[in-house]
Amino acid sequence: MRGIVWFRRDLRLHDQPALIAACEACSEVIPLFVFDEPLLQSRVFGSACVNFMLGCLHDLASSLADRGLTLQWRRGEPVEEVVRATREWKADAVYWNRDYEPRAIERDHTVTQRLAKAGVVVRTFKDHVVFESDEVRGATGEPFQRYSAYRARWWTQWHAIAPTVQPIPTTLTNKISAPLPLSRSQPTVTELGYDPVASWIEPGEENALKRLRWFTEGPIHSYAQGRNLPAVDGSAKLSPHFRFGTLSPRMAIHAALKVLAKGGRVSRPDVLTWVDELIWREFFQQVLASFPHVAEGAFRKVVVPPSRDPGPEHDSLFQTWCHGQTGYPIVDAGIRQLNQTGWMHNRVRMVVASFLIKDLRIDWQSGERYFMQHLIDADTAANNGNWQWCASTGTDAMRGYRIFNPALQSKKFDPDGAYIRRYVPELAHVSVRRIHEPYLMTVDEQELARCRIGVDYPFPIVDHQQARQEYLNLGKQEAMK
Ligand SMILES: Cc1cc2nc3c(=O)[nH]c(=O)nc-3n(C[C@H](O)[C@H](O)[C@H](O)COP(=O)(O)OP(=O)(O)OC[C@H]3O[C@@H](n4cnc5c(N)ncnc54)[C@H](O)[C@@H]3O)c2cc1C
Repeated sequence: MRGIVWFRRDLRLHDQPALIAACEACSEVIPLFVFDEPLLQSRVFGSACVNFMLGCLHDLASSLADRGLTLQWRRGEPVEEVVRATREWKADAVYWNRDYEPRAIERDHTVTQRLAKAGVVVRTFKDHVVFESDEVRGATGEPFQRYSAYRARWWTQWHAIAPTVQPIPTTLTNKISAPLPLSRSQPTVTELGYDPVASWIEPGEENALKRLRWFTEGPIHSYAQGRNLPAVDGSAKLSPHFRFGTLSPRMAIHAALKVLAKGGRVSRPDVLTWVDELIWREFFQQVLASFPHVAEGAFRKVVVPPSRDPGPEHDSLFQTWCHGQTGYPIVDAGIRQLNQTGWMHNRVRMVVASFLIKDLRIDWQSGERYFMQHLIDADTAANNGNWQWCASTGTDAMRGYRIFNPALQSKKFDPDGAYIRRYVPELAHVSVRRIHEPYLMTVDEQELARCRIGVDYPFPIVDHQQARQEYLNLGKQEAMK
């Protein structure tokens, strides 16, 4: 039997359910990747994300080549391309791992019907999460809307049926198919219509495993504190790997729990806090799968202050935020980190999101879109879930009237301003006392810091206290309507 393995968000060989099943059932396996042309043209993602994906594909192609297999690729509308490839290669079956985004579910439904009509077997697998949405449910079978309840049930499931990590199938090298027309070399980022950017998070399965080892041998032991400090390399920075499946979530969780099992000088709360984050990831995946309307709007109808009307003021404030020129150093550092590297520290993501929604009163979906277009780890479920959390419209939303104070967040989590200085070089010489609120500098202090407010670095675009009060007042008015 000849089977195609359609790689999508699972660009690895280890613990790869679709690949394992194909190796078990088929005498010939053809690995395939389809560049989704309509998606690439829609510019939902940005260059950082596309470069990282290409790096992962390059790595996957080379791991397959080491085993004598060629990663075939197609470019076009995925349903048409998969159906055509199956026909041309006379494949008997197509294997893939499931994806929970509404658009992907629809695509997979269509391709399944088309293949079934042609008499081709389709087999799909759980991979992107440890537990799919219907495996972690409330007492009456309803999907969870609260993270804490979901987490408790998730752990019960884990203790009952913790999935193991599967090795790379040893039979893979025997699955070489009869020669197919030669696959051209993978398209470059420019050919796909994106800009080349150096990926500072190294792509590919080997690098994901290396990073996981580094993290579980060191930073995981002080994660609860380290993860909040943007100037420190205190979190795993594995999110792009989870996004493109160069690391299996099962492997990551087992690796963390192995740290605990080893005993010795292990900080249990730190390790478990990290696993909690992986459960947050699964939680948002199940929210998207169970409540697909979140991709289009608020999870729940709640009374929140209205966002600013479209128009020149809205556009000008939004552009100022997008360029990291708000006059609030922690916000500007975060956005500039994103624009320069395709990544932003989680604590700072929350601060910049709160600032956009609550200080500037720009709708959260504008921020969500901007993040998708710039993040290397751009992922609909995590991005949407977190933006809705910040906007207080989501499942486990941030309390409606909690508004981050950028200067206080900055003092608490970047006390000496090291992170700010890295991304906002105009403030490099500002004293520790003033780095969080440079607009308070006297003329003498500005001279000493070689930074004139209003010339070298902007005045704040809004007064935080005033914006906060306005937001609260609008909220009260809205509640009385
Ligand atoms: C407004 C906003 C938008 C976000 N958009 C995305 C996004 O598009 N893609 C994305 O992967 N994450 C997103 N996050 C979540 C989080 O910021 C990143 O997952 C995290 O910063 C990745 O860094 P890390 O790998 O070092 O995480 P670690 O702290 O090491 O955590 C380990 C893993 O857990 C998962 N995780 C951690 N925090 C969260 C969270 N809050 N929600 C869901 N999963 C989490 C990630 O897969 C992460 O790699 C967003 C957060 C906010 C506040």
